Amino acid sequence: MSAYAWMDDALCAQTDPDAFHPEGSGHGYRAAAKVCDACPVREACEQHAARLEGTGSHADRHGMWAGTVPRARARRADTTAKAQRDALILRLHARGGMDADEIATVAGCDARTVYRVTATDRDEAAA
Ligand code: SF4
Repeated sequence: MSAYAWMDDALCAQTDPDAFHPEGSGHGYRAAAKVCDACPVREACEQHAARLEGTGSHADRHGMWAGTVPRARARRADTTAKAQRDALILRLHARGGMDADEIATVAGCDARTVYRVTATDRDEAAA
């Protein structure tokens, strides 16, 4: 079975495609959102959009996917990426043997972020 077989049941393929890309038209996403609400493959669509768009910014995202607008998907991806980064920081910190600068290099952030994440985790553990 194709990885795209779910698209055979996509309701947007049976409606006006412009409703899913109203950027600049002055129209909103309301009509598209109603279609997505009733779509049987919404979950697969959401997963596909996440893979397709990755961690791109709001400007890199276009149209409605799974009932979500570009800004909402960008916010969700950013939250997911930060959660993954924070989890990596905590794993490396717990393992020991690396200072904040080394952890920051691996995690792709600065040392202040490492201090903030580990301090927050320590505070939460103490609460
Ligand atoms: S959930 Fe995805 S596949 Fe379904 S109508 Fe909306 S955009 Fe199309």
